[in-house]
Amino acid sequence: MSSKYVYDFGGSSTDGGADMKNLLGGKGANMAEMSNLGIPVPPGFTITTEVCTHFMNNDDGYPDGLEKQVAASIARLEKEFGATFGDHDNPLLVSVRSGSRVSMPGMMDTVLNLGLNDSTVEGLISRTENPRFAYDSYRRFIQMYGNVVMGVHSELFEEKLGEARERAGVQVDNELSPKDLEALIEDYKAIVAKHADQPFPEDVKDQLYGSVAAVFHSWNSPRAISYRKMHSYPADWGTAVNVQTMVFGNMGDDCATGVAFTRDPSTGDKRFFGEYLVNAQGEDVVAGIRTPLPVDGAEGSLEHVMPEAYQELVKVYHRLEKHYRDMQDIEFTIQNGKLWMLQTRSGKRTGRAAVRIAVDMVHEGLIDEKTAMMRVEPEQLEQLLHPMVDPSVSATSIAHGLPASPGAASGHIVFSVEQALERTSKGEDVVLVRTETSPEDIDGMKVARAILTARGGMTSHAAVVARGMGKCCVAGCSELRIDYEAGTVTANGKTYHAGDEITVNGTSGHVFEGVLPTVKPTLDDYFRRFMEWADAARVLKVRTNADTPEDAENARAFGAEGIGLCRTEHMFFGEDRIDVVRQMILAEDTEERKEALAKILPMQRDDFVGVFGAMDGFPVTVRLLDPPLHEFLPSEPEDIDALAARLGEDRAELAAEIAALHESNPMLGHRGCRLGISYPEIYETQVRAIMEAACIVQRDGVEVMPEIMVPLVGIRGELAHLREKIVRVADEVLKEQGSRLDYLVGTMIEVPRAAIAAGRIAEYSDFFSFGTNDLTQLTFGFSRDDAQKFIETYIELGVMARDPFDTLDDLGVAELVRTAAEKGRATRPDIKLGICGEHGGDPESVRICHGIGLDYVSCSPFRVPIARLAAAQAALER
Ligand code: ADP
Ligand code: MG
Ligand code: MG
Repeated sequence: MSSKYVYDFGGSSTDGGADMKNLLGGKGANMAEMSNLGIPVPPGFTITTEVCTHFMNNDDGYPDGLEKQVAASIARLEKEFGATFGDHDNPLLVSVRSGSRVSMPGMMDTVLNLGLNDSTVEGLISRTENPRFAYDSYRRFIQMYGNVVMGVHSELFEEKLGEARERAGVQVDNELSPKDLEALIEDYKAIVAKHADQPFPEDVKDQLYGSVAAVFHSWNSPRAISYRKMHSYPADWGTAVNVQTMVFGNMGDDCATGVAFTRDPSTGDKRFFGEYLVNAQGEDVVAGIRTPLPVDGAEGSLEHVMPEAYQELVKVYHRLEKHYRDMQDIEFTIQNGKLWMLQTRSGKRTGRAAVRIAVDMVHEGLIDEKTAMMRVEPEQLEQLLHPMVDPSVSATSIAHGLPASPGAASGHIVFSVEQALERTSKGEDVVLVRTETSPEDIDGMKVARAILTARGGMTSHAAVVARGMGKCCVAGCSELRIDYEAGTVTANGKTYHAGDEITVNGTSGHVFEGVLPTVKPTLDDYFRRFMEWADAARVLKVRTNADTPEDAENARAFGAEGIGLCRTEHMFFGEDRIDVVRQMILAEDTEERKEALAKILPMQRDDFVGVFGAMDGFPVTVRLLDPPLHEFLPSEPEDIDALAARLGEDRAELAAEIAALHESNPMLGHRGCRLGISYPEIYETQVRAIMEAACIVQRDGVEVMPEIMVPLVGIRGELAHLREKIVRVADEVLKEQGSRLDYLVGTMIEVPRAAIAAGRIAEYSDFFSFGTNDLTQLTFGFSRDDAQKFIETYIELGVMARDPFDTLDDLGVAELVRTAAEKGRATRPDIKLGICGEHGGDPESVRICHGIGLDYVSCSPFRVPIARLAAAQAALER
């Protein structure tokens, strides 16, 4: 720790600068930077974050010499201002402001007008000849100090203030007379005396050190601690304290205070965007007591009311933007027509604004393309692709679940596929509300505007399917009580019926009553230009997971370079084919199964014709049938009855057959390549459909590159056995059709054994696609369907940093991917490597994949732009 504890800024001496955020906090460092630039900042000083750490480690004690340095800096302010701290005739007043490296909720609120007491307030009156102002400042000080330093509830003060307004018969605080205010001050002091442990401190030094200690203590407030945990900020960062000479926006009508953004933070438009209030102080603007006015533009704006100060402000903001090369969020005060800057920092912005500002700043020559790309959070791009709840609307949510698939949509509540189809056929928008969804619900999910479930995590059926469809979804909304029989859902103590309207915000996880307005997505030229830069910078290719031609087209529009995972079973769930699929499953012998498969063949072929057509020129990886067969069969008695009737089978027999297929652990059961080996005719039919479709589209001039993928391989023998059959059928089809085209046969790596034995498996595999959902499940032994409950607890307790189903586990699962990639390449140097789990769209996971040196990542269509940017950032970081 250095022996310099205090850094001056403003006026004649500035010690710090913007590069000293760690020591001076963001606010202090930027205040110093502004004074270095010659921008008017009220002089002050910053007590360093190191003093905070010392204070915390030494029973609230200050390092030796601190008080001396503080006294010296106060003396400087006194000299600069020609006023004396605590002096009866001419008192110096200061503010005390917290300031850590990053702005953080839970930190102490600013105390203004410190240095006032019964004696100094008189000096302030005689100096300013403005008793209203002086008393107003004093009562504000008691209120702020009483609240933030002494812990007295604000409402107690607000109540008295309200009474004073009523007594005086005025609407707003600044209409109170000096007499009213004087009386109020006495009331305030009485409140403090009654509700705090000590009386209000008259000694200004006590006031100062009371505030400094309160700032340091606030670093360990429960809110600050929980925020730090959430963002993994270390506790030893500490906070700085800024002590700054007061400037007054509340001295009269030539005074004001305001906040502004140098560009529009929601659209990114290049326009000055701010609000201000005449004759006001501090946070009056954001407190909503009086309605603030726009800084720019028409009547009442700062531009019109105080043109000179406004011009000065414009000059300053241009200067700041140029200097910081970023959009700034600024705070200012005008005292008797003179502008003072009180804060500047990079402004928070929406995804749309982030892209627009980054592109504009490149064109303005402020930043280069690389900086532009690093400045936009990949996740933020998602906001550009979906409708959003209009950010200007405030509404209270009725329930909160997982933000499973982003976007926002409203509609009438429906509880079943039938209700969904019925209402949508009448042209209504619907939201499908289910305890959880299953493949049986697909047709309802397709027509619904949004999906809401009470159970299930981020990789639940509802979440995965909704993301694939680009449909908004809130999953695992455990507060919901759904009663299918009654046709009701209860949330927040209120019961909603089928047909009632709700709005689902899949970006935040909130659910609202009624229809909230939404804003449309905007894929404008800014977005396109920005993504071109990202594409030029990245090494990883980005493919999509798509099961239908529509998904494929969508993804292509978002920049997908092929399909990394086409799940054939999703094609089996259509109303028109599920019964044929069921016949295939329930077949008593191979002959019967082949009969059913013969009906499936043309349907699958049509599917592939569509998907290949949409991906003209790009590879398409088709996964052969993967899930356990009973997932395709009905489980409810009435559904079994209906199926028996349709198939003309005996009900009891059918029920028994279905029961016989039941597995106690289907995820580890008869699925994937295990099915393909037991029932070879299933994969043979699928391969035939794939290859016939490829020949058909090729004749239409489509450049087709099929990659046939075997799921769940763990043993070389499995792939060796199946590859031989796949190649035989594929070559047979090519011969029949008289076609020539290249196709690949490969496997998913999703069983840990496959990763470890990858060198041998590669002998039979042209490519590996890492199925990191199953690989994570099997590596951890965490069930994807049930793990959510304890994973949350783990994260809360710090047992685990994050959910491995969201972000690839670098030390475990990714290590298996690394091993498999190395071994695979050793056997077959040109082996194609990609990842197709949900992780393919997670920026951190994309970074890991880049590091491993995979060829591509594959993700749901709406994550494609996110993966493109994440891949670019990963490449640029190296
Ligand atoms: P926050 O971190 O919550 O933004 P600040 O420390 O920025 O808190 O203080 C809030 C507001 O208080 C500032 O925007 C400014 O209007 C006012 N303020 C702080 N210090 C002074 C000062 N020395 N003179 C005048 N106003 C001040
Ligand atoms: Mg605040
Ligand atoms: Mg501020």
